[in-house]
Amino acid sequence: MAQAQKITPRAKDFSEWYNDVVMRAELADYSPVRGCMVIRPHGYRIWELMQDALDDMFKATGHQNAYFPLFIPMSFLAKEAEHVEGFAKEVALVTHTRLKATGKVGAQAVMPDPESALEEPLVVRPTSETIIYAMFAKWIQSYRDLPLLMNQWCNIVRWEFRTRLFLRTTEFLWQEGHTAHATEAEAEAEARQMLGVYREFQEDWMAMPVITGRKTDSEKFAGALRTYALEGLMQDNKALQAGTSHNLGQNFAKAFNVQYQTAAGGLEYVWNTSWGVSTRMIGGLVMTHSDDNGLVCPPKLAPVQVVIVPIWKSEEEKSQVLGVGGKVKDELAKVGIRVELDARDSLKPGAKYFEWEAKGVPLRLEIGPREVAAGQVMTARRTGGKAPAKLDGLGGVVRKSLDEVQATLLQTAKDRREAHSIRGVTKPQFLEFMKGTGGFAYGGFCGSPACEAEIKQQTGATVRVLPDPAFRSAEAPRTCMWCGKPSVAEAVWAQAY
Ligand SMILES: [Zn+2]
Repeated sequence: MAQAQKITPRAKDFSEWYNDVVMRAELADYSPVRGCMVIRPHGYRIWELMQDALDDMFKATGHQNAYFPLFIPMSFLAKEAEHVEGFAKEVALVTHTRLKATGKVGAQAVMPDPESALEEPLVVRPTSETIIYAMFAKWIQSYRDLPLLMNQWCNIVRWEFRTRLFLRTTEFLWQEGHTAHATEAEAEAEARQMLGVYREFQEDWMAMPVITGRKTDSEKFAGALRTYALEGLMQDNKALQAGTSHNLGQNFAKAFNVQYQTAAGGLEYVWNTSWGVSTRMIGGLVMTHSDDNGLVCPPKLAPVQVVIVPIWKSEEEKSQVLGVGGKVKDELAKVGIRVELDARDSLKPGAKYFEWEAKGVPLRLEIGPREVAAGQVMTARRTGGKAPAKLDGLGGVVRKSLDEVQATLLQTAKDRREAHSIRGVTKPQFLEFMKGTGGFAYGGFCGSPACEAEIKQQTGATVRVLPDPAFRSAEAPRTCMWCGKPSVAEAVWAQAY
């Protein structure tokens, strides 16, 4: 194994720290293809656990999984005007289907066979509205076919020049929900419902508090009527958009002719929604909880929730502690806890602690001869705190400890966010805040894109959301914090990923 590298402290360079944590925890690695990443098993397991939880929630709200092609005819993208404009600058195209030997060596040994040029190039999906609604047009005939509630788990490609592991990569994994409804009210309710599902997942599973609300027109999804989003505040006080849910109105229905016969016999366009979260959430999880020793993973999403580290000096002690360790492992596994016994000879206990800490294992159980004699183990939380626990009834103690860690992580993150939020902000305060520590700034907004653009240009901050009632300040602001004109909505600004 490669020499363990030191993790750059957060205070020194947050961005370096982030890369170090991801690499040391073996979540992902850089790939030979620039801008793409390899998700390693430890990182992929977190994604699988996220998928399992979300998939259950999608099914519980009536959605079914399906799978649509990776390739989309180029002309499909052009059918919705805003949509093509939004994605035109970041699509990968397939133009040929064969290679031809050139007789040269090296990279020039092959070239696309000109005779295999596609009549119509194919776009590698940057998102799947167009191909999915082309199919919906086939499947939806009457009001009886509605609502149509689908989801797909897949990869997508958006050509990026500045990439960061998990946060922004050319190819990434996600899910995209797509639904069709008879009325605007139903579509709106669906978009809001899925925003709620995401919030529940991000708070209950990721222990990542998020504020929800509506995006301004300049930040909404290309082709949507309204976009709703979830925004978390990372430890460097920058916002991370952790998911979006769109009410697409009838824009795509009209572009793809998705119509249905009403009960009265008339013909109407359906109302669509789409919503998605991606592997970007893993980046959010890392930046919300981790510390200078590496990854801190909420227990519900930890690939390994408990690691047992046996401690021995003699062979006799070794067989003793491994025996007890093995029994503890079986007992914990039996009650559904993801547990590993680190019996490696090649590493000293201290080095093992170090490695599992970097990988974010929430709870460590140390078993030495002293513990065996006393019929107990020493428990050590990744987030701090050591205490002995009796072998008898250990499963319950471990479960309780994991639950406490999960709850504490959410509360700590919430407290940190609130400590870095200011409300009723004035322009001078705003400028100082954004130049200083940064965070969430709540203030009045006139709704003008000109104000938004000026704020972005001068401070790098954007409107993250026009917050939902649950997050709004007690008193509605009267004037735009920037230009002083009447405020149309409270806004939350932050510098963002
Ligand atoms: Zn203004």
